[in-house]
Amino acid sequence: MPPFFALVALYGLIFVLHLIVPGRWVTGYARDERSGAPLRYRLNGLRVALLTLALYLGAGALGWIPWDYLYVHRWEALAAACALGLVFTGAIVLTAPPRRGLLTDLFLGRRENPQLAGGHVDAKMFLYLVGAVTLELNLLSFAAHHVLLFPGEASPGVLLHVALFSWFVFDYLWFEEVHLYTYDLFAERVGFKLGWGCLTFYPFFYAVGLWSVAARPDPGAPGWRLLLCALLFFAGWVMARGANMQKYWFKTQPERPAFGVLPPETIEDGERRLLVNGFWGAARHINYLGEITMATALALTLGYPWALGPWLYPLYYVVLLLPRQRDDDRRCAAKYGALWAEYERRVPYRVIPYLY
Ligand code: NDP
Repeated sequence: MPPFFALVALYGLIFVLHLIVPGRWVTGYARDERSGAPLRYRLNGLRVALLTLALYLGAGALGWIPWDYLYVHRWEALAAACALGLVFTGAIVLTAPPRRGLLTDLFLGRRENPQLAGGHVDAKMFLYLVGAVTLELNLLSFAAHHVLLFPGEASPGVLLHVALFSWFVFDYLWFEEVHLYTYDLFAERVGFKLGWGCLTFYPFFYAVGLWSVAARPDPGAPGWRLLLCALLFFAGWVMARGANMQKYWFKTQPERPAFGVLPPETIEDGERRLLVNGFWGAARHINYLGEITMATALALTLGYPWALGPWLYPLYYVVLLLPRQRDDDRRCAAKYGALWAEYERRVPYRVIPYLY
């Protein structure tokens, strides 16, 4: 099968698995535009990812596809993902009533939370699932290419990079429900940004570091440096996952102590409450610092600190998340009014405690 169609078939497979694999129903945070009721979701991302991975490993072991197929055909696969992203964007946007002008609508979307069969398939959650699974397959395939190219001399940094990045992917899938409480899910619409972003950008650009060094030899980083990279990665993970979990518990069980030990400390205006302790007391978006720290650690594991490729991923996070923090501040100032001003007084740092 031509590689272009192999990628289309992979996305089709993930869609079919998402449709048929049993999932658990949960109530989300975003609300239905018309009824105002919280939306329902059917989540099975982890199972779909594990099944797809098992099929990929099985096909590799049987010799049906080379282990590094997605590396060897990365440009064709990227072109196919790009075409699918564009077709999807056109289909989801142009079939909905106009909102703010064609170009803005194409980029930001018209529909807020498109779902099939009352949540059996939710467009946003499916898009994130395709992105996550394809990113994982890309990483494995790119690393396989490196191992095949340098038998017995593979870079331990490449293996560590894939292990940590897999942690990142499966962490998202494990905590899929927590994602229902994030900005994309409750504040964005489905257009090019989310559609093309998840079908093309997420699975390919996030692997840009490995893409750029997979064919290079082991740079020979000492073990202690790799250990430091792993520690840095997990420091970032604690900030990002910790902040997200603390907020998730606060939204779903407002009195529950976070992590079993940290009762929520809040400010309120009689109607609404905001967290002001723990991660949310250190900076208003310390979770973004966590993401940037993890991405920096991932770039460093590859052992080519002077090459541009590995740095594109953390740089992208800086460009994405710093303006997003400001957008979210504006959104929250409009939503919470004086309460948000009080929060800004109590927690003056945007992203980095004591610095920014
Ligand atoms: P946040 O999880 O920071 O959510 C912001 C929202 O949380 C606000 O709009 C507000 O919503 C609520 N909130 C803010 N401050 C408080 C507070 N003190 N107390 C209670 N509620 C508060 O942002 P995102 O949704 O952007 O990010 C979620 C996660 O996803 C982060 O870890 C982020 O780094 C990650 N992410 C990952 C990306 C990736 O590519 N890997 C890309 C983008 C984000 P409300 O109206 O509910 O009060």
